[in-house]
Amino acid sequence: MCTTRRFTLAALAISITSFNAAAATPNDAAPLGKLPRWVQPLAYHLDFRIDPRQTDYSGNATIDIELKQAADHLWLHGQDLNVSKVTLTDAAKKIHSAQYKAAAPKEGVAELDFGKILPAGRYSVSLEYRAPFNQQLEGVYKVSSQGAPYVITQMEAISARYAFPGFDEPAFKTPFTLSLSAPENQVAVANTQQVAEQKLENGWHKLSFAPTRPLPTYLVAFAVGPWDVVDGPQIPATQWRKQPIPLRGIAPQGEGARIKPALAQTPAIITALEDYFGFGYPFDKVDLLAAPDFAAGAMENPGLVTFRDFLMLLDAHSPANNVRSSFNVAAHELAHQWFGDTVTMPWWDDLWLNEAFATWMQSKITQQLHPEYHADLELISSANRAMQSDSLVSVRRIRQPITNNGDIETAFDGITYQKGAAVLNMFERYLGADVFRQGVRAYIQQHQFSNATADDLVGALAKASGKDQRFAKAMRSFLDQSGVPLVDTALTWENGQAVLHLKQQRYLPLGSTGEAKRLWGIPVCVRYSVDAAAASKTKCELLDQEQGKMVLPGATAASWYMPNADAAGYYRFDMAHADLARLTDNLASLPNTEQLAYADAINAGFNRGDLDASAVLAAAPRLAQSSSREVATALLPSLQWLSKYEARTDAQHARLTELARQVYLPRLQQFGYQRRANESQDDALLRATLAEFLALDIKLPEVRKTLLAQGDQALQTNADGKLELTRANPDLLRSVLAVSTQERGTPAIDILIKALGNTSEPAQRLAILSGLGAATASANAERARNLALDPLVKVGEMSTLLRASREDGEGREAMWKWFTANHEQLVNRSGDSSGGKLPALVAGDACSQSEADRLTAFFEPMLGKLTGAERGLAQTRENTLLCTALRDKQDPAAILR
Ligand SMILES: [Zn+2]
Repeated sequence: MCTTRRFTLAALAISITSFNAAAATPNDAAPLGKLPRWVQPLAYHLDFRIDPRQTDYSGNATIDIELKQAADHLWLHGQDLNVSKVTLTDAAKKIHSAQYKAAAPKEGVAELDFGKILPAGRYSVSLEYRAPFNQQLEGVYKVSSQGAPYVITQMEAISARYAFPGFDEPAFKTPFTLSLSAPENQVAVANTQQVAEQKLENGWHKLSFAPTRPLPTYLVAFAVGPWDVVDGPQIPATQWRKQPIPLRGIAPQGEGARIKPALAQTPAIITALEDYFGFGYPFDKVDLLAAPDFAAGAMENPGLVTFRDFLMLLDAHSPANNVRSSFNVAAHELAHQWFGDTVTMPWWDDLWLNEAFATWMQSKITQQLHPEYHADLELISSANRAMQSDSLVSVRRIRQPITNNGDIETAFDGITYQKGAAVLNMFERYLGADVFRQGVRAYIQQHQFSNATADDLVGALAKASGKDQRFAKAMRSFLDQSGVPLVDTALTWENGQAVLHLKQQRYLPLGSTGEAKRLWGIPVCVRYSVDAAAASKTKCELLDQEQGKMVLPGATAASWYMPNADAAGYYRFDMAHADLARLTDNLASLPNTEQLAYADAINAGFNRGDLDASAVLAAAPRLAQSSSREVATALLPSLQWLSKYEARTDAQHARLTELARQVYLPRLQQFGYQRRANESQDDALLRATLAEFLALDIKLPEVRKTLLAQGDQALQTNADGKLELTRANPDLLRSVLAVSTQERGTPAIDILIKALGNTSEPAQRLAILSGLGAATASANAERARNLALDPLVKVGEMSTLLRASREDGEGREAMWKWFTANHEQLVNRSGDSSGGKLPALVAGDACSQSEADRLTAFFEPMLGKLTGAERGLAQTRENTLLCTALRDKQDPAAILR
């Protein structure tokens, strides 16, 4: 799955069921965690009868099972299912009756009560049921696009239980055979190719699909609606696969043409992945579906990959960021066809095997096919952001034990994805890319169409590399404990040799209550200069003790060194002062990767209280000149923080404004405010980032004026009654509309709210919502927030609206008041996924003890009913207190130095 999951309500604790295997018939309680192993599903036949115009649907699930011992009942999953009939057929074709009981309705655990003891053996269980279309983008859910209803599915993580009764746990992989009955004017698609169509009565038809490869329940997918189906280029046979693979795009009616750019890039991604894995694409087709409303970014269902529509529907007016994300996300989801779909984790504590790998592989494939996207730098920037989260005491580990449903929902975070990818990148470099690939290939070969754990992967890498337990222990030290290492470095001369002294501890920001003593096995790679010219060498060693030494052959007294060569290591560093000064003098000669590591050291030093505001301001001009977008903008987070929390006096504000005007404005002016012919996508993205920073964070009047002029054009209405949004630069549209609502006030708000009702283009809708969310005057901000509860805004769009808030302290009070008055409606509407996101969404930029305390007081009584909110509360509270400590520590004079 890709990114941005919603916050939500749901429920319950999971505990691991204990079961006495020796008992003749199990006498056990409803399992809220893993299901017991004495029932094994072998195959599913699922028949759905779906009319998207209705409010519910019916289904028949026939599941072949093996009862491994005599029993009078079995446990399975099913949620909000109205089961009307259950039959159980034994191997001799004898039919037994059984009763379906919702045993733990909030958790979606059900019991089949046989009413008598049945002997061990094979059975076929058949359940007839009706269920409502889900309103919260889970299970089988209904959305509308331009007035037409569509039905789509999203089963991950644990929503298959809303769609059909079954064994909703990734360890149970079986073939699924689906049929979909629908009105004849409706198109229906599923994971596999359609093999038959049968006419039914009353203008319905029944479409049957080929059996799938063995899949877990969370990968089952289908869709019904008036879809456009567009053929893409066939994916030709390769040395890894004899048959060509058909490729199609599935888009809402009338949008088919706009999915073609996404289809065009797909064959190259698939064949590049096959070359890496040495394993042909293993499913019988590729469909890419543009979903009009979606909880996450995309979902890797084998054969039917679903995406939020803005990632799939592209044209000349699409923001550059969406064009790039379309490729990145497609590479991510297609990488999952191997990592996750072919080889699956048995339980959610190994979700990283899916997500860290797909994130890392997406970067590799993008770097290979689109080097101009600089995916290598994006991987480092996102690892640096993950390090920020990883410095919290309340952060998850990559392999966090799963103790309740909230743990499953909150596992889809920056630690699993971005930290996981960075750790893989580090160990790939340590083992060598070829050896690492050999290990990955062996892992896929050995566990194809089955399940595998972290141990299986680490074992395969150890075997391929011939490395011993020391390597396995080092890798596990990053998977099984939280935190980012901080490596202290100091260069000394000893007996005529340059010796680098290393010491590791946990990186902790100012105000942290965490314990710094912690040990990792860190592959430390250092690059250092060997003479006055540009020549440099790299030396790597595994630091798995608290302290270590590294001799740097050829280094001179004047040598500089970079403690994280190529920024490939997942660690931060703190250099001796003189060493840092020499590195700073040579900053311009470092590759962009290492300039990003340098920028991270500045941000990290500032957050740790080692560097004050003047150090950040001094470093900004050096990095801002970089031709790399990632490097040029790497210090913006610290500058944004200063602007938001520290520029309290006019003089401080004037100093920051002046710095922005001298350092960043010329870069923006160099690009201008309109797209230029043949400009690079990176330039378009840099323009958008700088314009947003200068107009909305720093509020430079000259930048706001230019954006406002574009906004005035965009808010004009054309002959069809629609806004002229394309008259603004599409890459700037979000910032343009934000400036418009802030400067033009109520008239602009009125126009944009009206436009929500007649704009279906997804990127334009997101820009409108960002603009509305950025409104500042209190009455307007309140109207914008209320839209989160209005059907004009789709469920998947709610967080875009609320996250766009640009409020200062006074506005944060208004937001909090609104939230506490409306939280029930908010939670009801967004439904049942991750309440873990809610505290950060409504109070993520809080920065005082009193805000931390009221957050705790409000959420603590609700933890029992909000899935994942416990971790979300702990992290938001901790971030608030860290921000408070950093703010208290600031020397007001530092910003003026
Ligand atoms: Zn994913």
